Amino acid sequence: MNHPSPDDPRWHAIRTRDRAADGSFVYGVRSTGIFCRPSCPSRPARPESVIIHETVEAALVGGFRACLRCLPEGAVDQFALTPGRSR
Ligand SMILES: [Zn+2]
Repeated sequence: MNHPSPDDPRWHAIRTRDRAADGSFVYGVRSTGIFCRPSCPSRPARPESVIIHETVEAALVGGFRACLRCLPEGAVDQFALTPGRSR
């Protein structure tokens, strides 16, 4: 469990929908059980309801589901850049 403080730069990235932060972490919202990438258009209201996850895997292990609006799993996949991807 890792709640951002209001002056945490990651919380700032969430609040400003900073696309540069995509892929460096995801955040879960406890009230909904959904996790998002920082640039997701649906912003949480309060940092205490947000849990920062360093990786998608950590969010999934934590019991969160991927947001259907920002598709954080697909976003992180872009950064994985798997070599020899079929097609
Ligand atoms: Zn989202």
